[in-house]
Amino acid sequence: MHCSRRHTALTAALILSASVLLPQMPAAAIQPVAHGIAVRNMDPGVKPGNNFYLYANGAWVARTTIPADRAGVGNFTTLFDESRRNVAAIVKEAAQSNGPAGSNERKIADLYASYMDQKAIDSQGLKPLQPELSKVKAIRNKQELAAIMGSQLRADVDPLNNTNFHTLHLFGMWTSPGFRSPADYAVYLLQGGLVLPSPDYYLSDSGHMRQIRAQYGQHIAAMLRLAGYSDPAGRAAKVLALEQAIAKVQESLADSEVVQKANNVWTLADFEAKAPGLDWSAYFGGAGLAQQREFYVWQPAAFTGESALVASTPLATWKDWLAFHLLEEYGPFLSQPIEQETFNFEGKVLVGVPQQEPRWKRAVDLVNADLGDAVGQLYAKRYFSPQAKAKAQDMVAHLIAAYHKRLQALTWLAPSTKAEALKKLDSLYVGIGYPETWKDYSTYLVKPDDLFGNVRRAELWQYRYNIDRIGKPVDRHEWWMEPQTVNAVNLPLQDALNFPAAILQPPFFDPKAPAADNYGAIGTIIGHEISHTFDAEGSAFDADGRLRNWWTPTDHQHFEQEAKALAEQYDSYVALPGLHVNGEQTIDEDIADLGGVAAAYEAYHDSLNGRPAPKIDGFTGDQQFFLAFGQNWSSKVRSAALRRQVLTDPHAPAEFRAATARNSDAWYEAFDVNPGQALYLAPDKRVRIW
Ligand SMILES: [Zn+2]
Repeated sequence: MHCSRRHTALTAALILSASVLLPQMPAAAIQPVAHGIAVRNMDPGVKPGNNFYLYANGAWVARTTIPADRAGVGNFTTLFDESRRNVAAIVKEAAQSNGPAGSNERKIADLYASYMDQKAIDSQGLKPLQPELSKVKAIRNKQELAAIMGSQLRADVDPLNNTNFHTLHLFGMWTSPGFRSPADYAVYLLQGGLVLPSPDYYLSDSGHMRQIRAQYGQHIAAMLRLAGYSDPAGRAAKVLALEQAIAKVQESLADSEVVQKANNVWTLADFEAKAPGLDWSAYFGGAGLAQQREFYVWQPAAFTGESALVASTPLATWKDWLAFHLLEEYGPFLSQPIEQETFNFEGKVLVGVPQQEPRWKRAVDLVNADLGDAVGQLYAKRYFSPQAKAKAQDMVAHLIAAYHKRLQALTWLAPSTKAEALKKLDSLYVGIGYPETWKDYSTYLVKPDDLFGNVRRAELWQYRYNIDRIGKPVDRHEWWMEPQTVNAVNLPLQDALNFPAAILQPPFFDPKAPAADNYGAIGTIIGHEISHTFDAEGSAFDADGRLRNWWTPTDHQHFEQEAKALAEQYDSYVALPGLHVNGEQTIDEDIADLGGVAAAYEAYHDSLNGRPAPKIDGFTGDQQFFLAFGQNWSSKVRSAALRRQVLTDPHAPAEFRAATARNSDAWYEAFDVNPGQALYLAPDKRVRIW
């Protein structure tokens, strides 16, 4: 969920994840509808079989406009807004409580205050960043270059849990249970070095991408000019050319999502032999990892290619690249001219958002990013009742029971595979609402008048936190999301799920709503996350979290065949003129949606215990179930943001996720869907996996 620019106003961007449920979108005002489906959001003029998304959400789509400071709006963003308001209230109280120095309350208040003090930030100009820029200017040779690059390594990627593959640093680091030894934390390294969201932005011939590249070149020059560099246009052209060369050696997102390709353990000697060019000793020395013996290298070819570029590209170009990347990374926390230039490109050009969000909202995002657990602890206490937790746990139990039954009934899995799958299901840890333990921020120093320093120290605190645990035993109950995050996540290396408190709210979860509604809304989301346990990626891990093939070739063959059929459904969806969804890139999420609907539907019927489902607003129980699912995906997104999502996100655009229902026989019966209607699939074309 966090991209390398996690602190910027770019929560306005769609920052997406593979096992994470949804794009992070900023919110807008839609009234959450209490206690059942939102009939007023539907368009009864649309036939469900022709466009189920619009049938469920058409009136909402027609009356909703995207606010000027947003990339998009939808059901998720309503809760996102609410969570921000709640966190703002926590911040306010923390400030009023005047907590002692060093307390979490004091840190929350001071971090927020440092972001809000525009006058102090402006009066400093570029000064806070100068020591870093001076270090870059002082680099005399490639060895010193490597050491500085190493010193910029951060724990800023997460390829499996929050599925963030992007960092503007040369490489990114992630610590997590090891593929080969999941009982201990290991260190993973990922490709990096690009500011634009993916290689396509650098390499695609489309007119749109050419235009973005031209604007990007101007942006690089503008940033260097603001920092006082001579010949900014000349330098910018070389920096852009270098990034294009990096883009050429990077792996695509679809390839990066295949975990088996990432299972490469390298020692220092391997880096030197397989990826010559960069001075690896100097690099790891700068990163504080000189003693580390083994690394998982996620995209080996990219490491070879990027390292060769360090050798072949002139030192002066790399120094300009470093300077520009520093400006780009910290631009949002510096004085107005540079902050504005950053937003003009990152927000307006890349995401299509005309206007920056109010400062207080960005300040809340920063507090969430850097003191997430400190806020989360207060948030959980105040906004998540024990009753809500018990009810959610009950739904999870029904969902797991449904999966159990469904797995046992499957005919295409070999008995040995089935036994392993059931073992994995039975040992699944499901975290509801909030974690059992909290991060300790006592070594993170926060000052009320030093925004840049606070941001920088937070990064280093995170980095240190990750480095310190390498080689130590794994806490399988560790959370990867905060309670105030409106999202959910599957953790394949821990055989665990997290459902934060902030998503366990209406309209997704309402203890007072009919069962049909809860199972159609949050139930399909819970089912989605459980399904990741058995998707192409999740099924690569066994019950202990070890990367190991426990499937027979025949199991695989059947799975691949069904997955291919599902990917073809998604390939056929058109997001923007000329821009199709990439079924190969979204397949894991599509399978999760499919499995989620199937299991939640069964869990819903089980929960009725033979009682008939009440008709509400004229809709049967099954109709309510599918409508609640369809309404999960209400969403309006700006074209630039949608394009970015299609190119860089493992999730299909929301409206197509609603169409998942076309694979369910019960949906056809519920809405009388017939051949000839746009979404109709003949029974043998409906994909069933779990
Ligand atoms: Zn997912």
